[in-house]
Amino acid sequence: MTNTAKYIFVTGGVTSSLGKGIIAASLAKLLQAQGYRVTIQKLDPYINVDPGTLNPYEHGECYVTEDGAETDLDLGHYERFLNVPTSQANNVTTGRIYQSVIDKERRGEFLGKTVQVVPHITDEIKERVQILGNSGDYDIIITEIGGTVGDIESLPYIEAVRQLRWDLGDHNGIVIHLTLVPYLSAAGELKTKPTQHSVKTLMESGVQADILVCRTEHHLSTDLRKKLALFCNVREEAVIQSIDASTIYDVPNFMLKEGLDKVVLKKLNLKSTEPDIQKWNQFLKRLKNPKTEINIGLIGKYVELQDSYKSILEAIIHAGAENEVKVNVESIHSEYINKDNVSVKLEHLDGILVAPGFGERGIEGKIDAVQFVRENNIPFLGICLGMQMAVIEFARNVLGLTEANSTEMDPHTKYPVIDIMEEQKSITHMGGTMRLGSWNCDLKRESLVWDIYKSEHIKERHRHRYEFNSDYTERIKTAGMIPTGLNPDTGLVEIIEIPKHPWFVGVQYHPEYKSTVASPHPLFVAFVKAALNYNKKNRSARMAQN
Ligand code: GLN
Repeated sequence: MTNTAKYIFVTGGVTSSLGKGIIAASLAKLLQAQGYRVTIQKLDPYINVDPGTLNPYEHGECYVTEDGAETDLDLGHYERFLNVPTSQANNVTTGRIYQSVIDKERRGEFLGKTVQVVPHITDEIKERVQILGNSGDYDIIITEIGGTVGDIESLPYIEAVRQLRWDLGDHNGIVIHLTLVPYLSAAGELKTKPTQHSVKTLMESGVQADILVCRTEHHLSTDLRKKLALFCNVREEAVIQSIDASTIYDVPNFMLKEGLDKVVLKKLNLKSTEPDIQKWNQFLKRLKNPKTEINIGLIGKYVELQDSYKSILEAIIHAGAENEVKVNVESIHSEYINKDNVSVKLEHLDGILVAPGFGERGIEGKIDAVQFVRENNIPFLGICLGMQMAVIEFARNVLGLTEANSTEMDPHTKYPVIDIMEEQKSITHMGGTMRLGSWNCDLKRESLVWDIYKSEHIKERHRHRYEFNSDYTERIKTAGMIPTGLNPDTGLVEIIEIPKHPWFVGVQYHPEYKSTVASPHPLFVAFVKAALNYNKKNRSARMAQN
């Protein structure tokens, strides 16, 4: 296959956290809305092979793709904006690059040559960048380079970009540089110097930025745009303002207004038309004009960092817009929930979501929370560890197996209602060894999920090691908790429900990874709707009392 795809490299300067992922996703959206087949790739300069082994406090959530890759959370934004699945090829880390080069060296593929950063590491980066372009599936590849220009770790990536631009030729590879234009309130001025320096740093590596996207809290004046253009060697039309947005979903429209898509297409020698973002704007309209508000509790142990539950929070936003309701998410730390305070902490909520997680910390609080919602008929969605906690709670408080637990928390528990699979027991490596990626699930008729998914066969993404222990299925079922989704190949329980409860669903998989703007996840939509109904019912009950 010849390389016909065009490449857009997105680099970042001045500081981290400027929102490169959102800019890349917004640009991709605008190009997709003009008929181009676009994908986005993230290159991460850290040495971990993937973010799967990283604590969520480090880089936020680990996003899982259909093919079971554990990836950077920016891939979640790409899928949510584009509604096109990504894969392992969309996320590459320095660790993965080095691992591959070292493996090649051990196989003797370098024929006795000294293996070096240039050309061997840079060649490997270039190859990884072009995998998606060479697939023939895409017209445009947007490659986001993690980190900030000038970082030691980023150097081989910037060098690879320099070479690629040269290899690809004019109009086939362009560079967008995202920088910060800070506002000094004492002087009442926006400052361009950090951007000038950052562009200069990039030039020291032989890379000239084609387009500047300037993150700012205030509008850039024409004079300031002119100044930036002059000092940074870019056309004035290529100075793009990226002003703070109240929601990330506004950014495609902001970029459209600034003409980012037009400059990009012009530089790539591609035709530009009016993007069709009607559907996107309908979503925005619903998002911004809610008819009412509800409160949902998100119970987890990484709640201090919002990015830890990024996909869940976004899936709730999509579901809120779908239901035309504003969902206030209250993050509640499970470590601080106990039997004495659970009702005070949760009674005002219209729905409770118990989050995924690993390890023992905070699990008793999750179990107390599940008991409270189960006994008080509050809508409940348990995801992965959240589902496992619901099973443990049920075994302890309904079946009377007070010592029930998961063998993850207590390897010697008398009642291992959640247990590790036989094939997982011999695994000693941590990276990439869980049940990962997309798995089939068959739904039982006459269940909530059957009504919700409107389909018998579904596929959802997983990331866990422990499972519902089928030794307990009969007892749990008889007591009123029903497995309503099973893996057709292994018989593993993927979904549990309590039919006597108005809305109680636990899923072993992660539905949040598949929710997008164009296609909000049905389970989240139904959960928010249940919370909305609960809220209405409570409100009318309160009104009747007054
Ligand atoms: N720790 C649990 C397991 O490994 C749940 C994982 C999760 O919530 N993603 O099975």
